[in-house]
Amino acid sequence: MDMYEKVIELARRRGFIWPAFELYGGAAGFYDYGPLGAPLKRGIEDLWRGFFVIREGFSEIECPTIGVEEIFKASGHLSGFSDPLTECKECGEIYRADHLIKHIVEVPDALANDEIYRVIKENDVFCPECGGDLSEIYEFNLMFKTFIGPGGKQPGYLRPETAQGMFVNFPRLLRHYRDRLPFGAVQIGKSYRNEISPRQGVIRLREFTQAEAEIFINPKDKGHPRFGEVADLVMTLYSKEGQERGETVEMTVGDAVARGIIAHETLAYYVARTYQFLIEAGLSRERLRFRQHKDDEMAHYAADCWDAEALLDRFGWIEIVGVADRTNYDLRSHMAQSGANLTVYLPFDEPIKEERLIVKPEMKKLGPLFRNKAKAVADALSALPVEELKRDPIVVIVEGEKEEIDPALVSFEVVEEEIRGEEVVPHIIEPSFGIDRVLYSVLEHSYREEMVEGETRAVLALQNRVVPIQVAVLPLMDRDELVGPAEEIARELRSLDMKVEYDSSGSIGRRYRRNDEVGTPYSVTVDYETLEEGTVTIRDRDSMSQIRIPRSEVSERVQALLAGEMAFSEAGSPLAS
Ligand code: AMP
Repeated sequence: MDMYEKVIELARRRGFIWPAFELYGGAAGFYDYGPLGAPLKRGIEDLWRGFFVIREGFSEIECPTIGVEEIFKASGHLSGFSDPLTECKECGEIYRADHLIKHIVEVPDALANDEIYRVIKENDVFCPECGGDLSEIYEFNLMFKTFIGPGGKQPGYLRPETAQGMFVNFPRLLRHYRDRLPFGAVQIGKSYRNEISPRQGVIRLREFTQAEAEIFINPKDKGHPRFGEVADLVMTLYSKEGQERGETVEMTVGDAVARGIIAHETLAYYVARTYQFLIEAGLSRERLRFRQHKDDEMAHYAADCWDAEALLDRFGWIEIVGVADRTNYDLRSHMAQSGANLTVYLPFDEPIKEERLIVKPEMKKLGPLFRNKAKAVADALSALPVEELKRDPIVVIVEGEKEEIDPALVSFEVVEEEIRGEEVVPHIIEPSFGIDRVLYSVLEHSYREEMVEGETRAVLALQNRVVPIQVAVLPLMDRDELVGPAEEIARELRSLDMKVEYDSSGSIGRRYRRNDEVGTPYSVTVDYETLEEGTVTIRDRDSMSQIRIPRSEVSERVQALLAGEMAFSEAGSPLAS
């Protein structure tokens, strides 16, 4: 059994994740989160909110998961969000063509379709199922299409990313932030991609949860006021150049910017926050790196892009987050599609003076020539750019008609103008998280097995912040005199908002193991000393050591332990285990 199989078996058996619609045979790319998976996912999402909503001060919004066609025309998803397919000529199985040549070409998604086909032919790649010949490559759009209302007239699409919600709401968000940059808006929600043949289990889903932050910045200001807070953080970077040599480096965020490896402070700041979030969620430092997109892999509009990648036993390095400088592409595209003005007026610190050539139409001469159209002609002339005014004749369009005007009818004047600001299209920095991939990576990186007294102990060393069960309350035996006080402790802890599991079935050793494998950090056990001495034991998942504390202090100690305010060894008197 590889690690994926072990983790997925545990996840299914204990109610974290399982394939959806099992009753009807299931469908690839759809999974359910069960009684332990749903709270774990919520824990990860809430940790994310702590980082990006609370500490960054970004606003969380919630938009429809179905979008109208114009959005995806503007975003490019309608024309460009497709994958290259190839079909087996023998058995009819369909594959993502670029995936079939992954072992031959390092970045296969950078290749054009005919190039992929050439690599397939030259390297004798055949159908992995039956060994048959593969067809030429064709494109398949990954958006799920539907219709809004009856009659099939208005197409709609399930959103393939949450980001568009923030882009199309830009004017309202700007007003919310009182017309100032920078500001950020985030969304956590479902996205849909009709992935071609999702064979990577929970890694490639057709319905998944994204958490995306869109940070709208002044293009001229890519510094970050809080950069100092993260400058000394050391991360593993796999830069464009590093990839040429197959080398990663350990480097501080500050150095990465100073040496021009990460394009600028703002991007680096969010790469660093992404790193901190992933570590707090429970990823292993050794199995986490940031890989920079190569020039031929990056979207044409992006200025720089770094993926957080987790090392997974079966799949290798997998992208779980993308952090990109998207420049002003998104807002420009929506301006062009919608005709709306998506600029921000940014006042200069100091007004600047500029000499400007202005045109002065001579009304005395224009009047007799153009009569009641003269005013419109004068206005049209005033609106022309200087280059157009230098032509002979000058051409303007008035009321749909072309008019030719002798330059002698126009005079020029140089004026000095005070300019107080400018209209700019903000640039966007986007950290985009796949929550399901983060969750699976957390499970795999937290999982370990060890031998204890001749038996294998499986442990999910989940972080206290995200665990689905924070504390188990266990009567030593299922007897009334122990059950009563144990239930009372469970009630007390629940009243303090702790996630408590009460369990009285089976031997105490079995119950400890059951809690270890779902990550419960602490177990409180009620035994006969509780009745005689007024004390209980607390057991620590990771060390398996136990302490004894007064019954009256349970809530306070468990709370302090969960918050990391107290070391386990200091929380009570040790008990020989
Ligand atoms: P992208 O817009 O493709 O860069 O995706 C952003 C993030 O969403 C990625 O880093 C992944 O974590 C996640 N993601 C993308 N596609 C899928 C998928 N099919 N299943 C699960 N997560 C995905």
